[in-house]
Amino acid sequence: METHIRKIESSRKRFLSKIVAIMCVLAFTIGGASAANADYFAGGMPSKKNSVKYVGINSTYVNQFNNARFRWNALSGVTFGKSNSAKNTMTAARYSSSWYGLYTSKGPRNNSRTFTIQVNVRSLQAASGGNMSKWIASTSAHELGHALSLKDNPNTSKSSLMKHSRNRSTAIGPQSYDVSEVKRIY
Ligand SMILES: [Zn+2]
Repeated sequence: METHIRKIESSRKRFLSKIVAIMCVLAFTIGGASAANADYFAGGMPSKKNSVKYVGINSTYVNQFNNARFRWNALSGVTFGKSNSAKNTMTAARYSSSWYGLYTSKGPRNNSRTFTIQVNVRSLQAASGGNMSKWIASTSAHELGHALSLKDNPNTSKSSLMKHSRNRSTAIGPQSYDVSEVKRIY
């Protein structure tokens, strides 16, 4: 059975309760791997080595996505490669939705699973003020965090790339808490 999982980084809090509800249902539906603890996202990839293909983006976004990958690849054992034959994709466009970034995975949590990351140029432009570049960086790295099985808004007081309340101008890559979670999960 195909499973579709959507992780949404919304700019509007009123969507959050709905998303959390959906995610709770999915957590029971998907099951599979032991759900370790509350910060584990079952929609992530089974391995911390994955490749992506960029789709329809200009050099600005190529550089941004490269940097987002490199920030994660600095972690031991994590590889986000880039390949035109990769089934996982990253793209950016002007979507009418309010989310800044969207991670969607498809298929069971094994090597048949693929993911798509979409970055919303429109909503980021509208909300980021003079910090557009940093906000793109933070959003791109955040979505890759979902591929590494990190869930939104982890239950910690520590700084996390996965918190919607983070400062997107400074938290542009994995924070030490995120690093420790990836190590714990894989
Ligand atoms: Zn998210």
